[in-house]
Amino acid sequence: MNQAWSDVYTKALALIAEVEPEVAAATRQELADQRESLKLIASENYASLPVLAAMGTWFSDKYAEGNPGHRFYAGCQNVDRVETLAAEHAKALFGADHAYVQPHSGIDANLVAYWSILSHRIESPTLERLQVKNVNELSEGDWEELRLTFAKQRVMGMSLDVGGHLTHGFRPNISGKMFHQRSYGTDPHTQLIDYGKLRADAKEFKPLIITAGYSAYPRRINFAAMREIADEVGATLFVDMAHFAGLVAGKVFTGDEDPVPFAHVVATTTHKSLRGPRGGMVLASGEYAAAVDRGCPLVLGGPLGHVIAAKAVALAEARQDSFRTYAQAIADNAKALAEGLLRRGVKLVTGGTDNHIVLLDVSSFSITGRQAESALLDSGIVTNRNSVPNDPNGAWYTSGVRIGTPALTTRGLGTAEFDQIAGLIADVLAGTTPVATANGASKAKYAIADGLADRTKAAAAELLNGFPLYPGLSL
Ligand code: PLP
Repeated sequence: MNQAWSDVYTKALALIAEVEPEVAAATRQELADQRESLKLIASENYASLPVLAAMGTWFSDKYAEGNPGHRFYAGCQNVDRVETLAAEHAKALFGADHAYVQPHSGIDANLVAYWSILSHRIESPTLERLQVKNVNELSEGDWEELRLTFAKQRVMGMSLDVGGHLTHGFRPNISGKMFHQRSYGTDPHTQLIDYGKLRADAKEFKPLIITAGYSAYPRRINFAAMREIADEVGATLFVDMAHFAGLVAGKVFTGDEDPVPFAHVVATTTHKSLRGPRGGMVLASGEYAAAVDRGCPLVLGGPLGHVIAAKAVALAEARQDSFRTYAQAIADNAKALAEGLLRRGVKLVTGGTDNHIVLLDVSSFSITGRQAESALLDSGIVTNRNSVPNDPNGAWYTSGVRIGTPALTTRGLGTAEFDQIAGLIADVLAGTTPVATANGASKAKYAIADGLADRTKAAAAELLNGFPLYPGLSL
């Protein structure tokens, strides 16, 4: 880090402050807060300054609906350059046939994925059968029939209760409203995906799409087994690797654990373990490429050229050897954290981890996930509450806390530090008690043993001292 970066940000914030000082002040404060706390939110990271800088440009001002070389606006030659570059980096990094880098977020990427599968599997054969080129040429009757056919399709995804995502068929989400949905869970004893039961359920339900991926499952997935099941029932395998894309990019997940060779379509976010800008991306095997490329006009409008430029920078970073070292450290640190917690008597869902997530079951401390999350936050440790399988406290209060290692691994913390963090977390959980109310113990209010939060905060700050965030950047 050189002085130039400090100058860049100091000047940028001064410019912002001339118009709206509150935004400049909040931006400075955000950096200070992120520097001071142990950021253990599994879906967060710290993007590099080149990635952040790439987002603050005039590409933000450009409309570029369409695809490189085929836009609905003039003057897109520079957006074409960065979009083509980002897609080439993505294909090379993941070994994918095709990459579509326009989705604005993970949810957008999943919508593009679902609708491109519907287009390829349902719409295209219908158009072929009726010998028309596109949906505008369908008669009112045929169009209505096609719309009703979309609505009859079935998807199987991992249940939200055991770590799946809202977009995997949860009824309040559009995925649950679009499809007939059946979720698959985990074995009640091992808490691991039960592939035998999944196969039997898929044979009975006959889904068009099997979705694999998770937000809060601390284990790897066997994508070869998933593809075998999908092939047996004629389903398209869609993998949402939003959480673990960094581990795929960094070759920690290889062989059967790498989704790209097995899935027909893969969607991801770019801002979690992949450490890029906030955004999404879809990778596709050849037969789905054309459908995926029609993300606009399907569900997207104008692409975010400035974010696509930042994706190109982040993907170039992820192609460097140092990213493999980083990805391996994410997994090693998660293991050290899990072992440290287990050694100190904390219960973990599945009994451990082999990815970047550790899911704590805090019920043995007689507190809820919400109380644990709040007590940890008071102590300088930022996590999020999360339900555990069959959670008696539901999705709001929960009985769990989800922890992830990508962000602090970026700061350079290693296994020894993660063991220390395990000690801090275990002490806070042991020192937190629910506050009694007239109706019994509160699920939200809590008390922390005298001085414990301040002591932990000080210990966290001392730990982080050795691992500065954006070292040398002073504002
Ligand atoms: N898919 C999974 C598995 C996720 O965990 C998330 C985010 O939490 C998403 C998709 C959605 O990503 P975004 O918040 O960028 O829309």
